[in-house]
Amino acid sequence: MKNIPFISLMILLTQLASAADTHRLRDYPAEQVANKVWVIHGPLGFPSVENQGFMNNPAFVLTDAGVVVIDPGSSTAAGEMVLRQIDKLTKQPVVAVFNTHVHGDHWLGNQAIKDAWPDARFYAHPRMIAKAGAGAAEEWLDRMNRSTDGFTANTRALIPDQAIDQDRVIEIGNTHFRIDAPPKAHSNTDVMIEVVEPGVYFTGDNITYKRIPRMDDGTFKGSAAACKVAKAAQARIYVPGHGPSGGVDIIDGYCDYLATLYRLSGELYEEEMEDYEMKPRIARALKAYADWDGFDAEIGKHISLAILEYEGSL
Ligand SMILES: [Zn+2]
Repeated sequence: MKNIPFISLMILLTQLASAADTHRLRDYPAEQVANKVWVIHGPLGFPSVENQGFMNNPAFVLTDAGVVVIDPGSSTAAGEMVLRQIDKLTKQPVVAVFNTHVHGDHWLGNQAIKDAWPDARFYAHPRMIAKAGAGAAEEWLDRMNRSTDGFTANTRALIPDQAIDQDRVIEIGNTHFRIDAPPKAHSNTDVMIEVVEPGVYFTGDNITYKRIPRMDDGTFKGSAAACKVAKAAQARIYVPGHGPSGGVDIIDGYCDYLATLYRLSGELYEEEMEDYEMKPRIARALKAYADWDGFDAEIGKHISLAILEYEGSL
């Protein structure tokens, strides 16, 4: 009989451990892309049960004042996973977090950082801050929770409170973070971040590589302008919102996809074609991107959006 309390305790501990595991994201390696800059390249694809809702590219920069995180992922579990990778490299505090835009796969990990490092400052574009506060946060919490079958249920939205806009430069621990804020590009809440000293440029979802993102909140013309701005920075390394990092040439693919899709949608619209009729022709012209993740899911929607934008420009 005297063993019963011990057994009960073991059962309780096992239950607690499995409850904790329920919200634990599997680890992904942090890859060094430049001096003091690390990127956790998430899997391609859209949020799912399989990927636990994690599919962006969280990153961190080691400065003399502490760690700066960019886009800590889609959930509290993702933010905790990012913190575990940082912990392998430094015991310095996280002092700042940048969020590239309002889409929750990039920033719903904020709360985990705040819980671990309450003094960290959270930066985003003023429209990101406003939109997140006006309902986008709840929408994305719900979207993540549904697409992961409840894996992200314990996630809360920590909305940034430090507004950053075009040409702002923030110095943190002898490292300079310069902001480009292209209007109406991927989400109309976008910032792109140049980490000046190592020459690394974070594009957010204005540029993706080997993955076609949603364009529901963006414009084709604004995205084309963002491509030019990103290229003009002449960074050594570009880190896209999704997909592998690389040199300036990783920008060309997605920008060519957008430009071709927009141009052909306009031309075929002038020939009085309906969007479903255009789709096979445009898909053929874009066959170089047919193996990019999300191509089949997004191309029809992209054509419809391109036609609307084209009509609006007439
Ligand atoms: Zn996005």
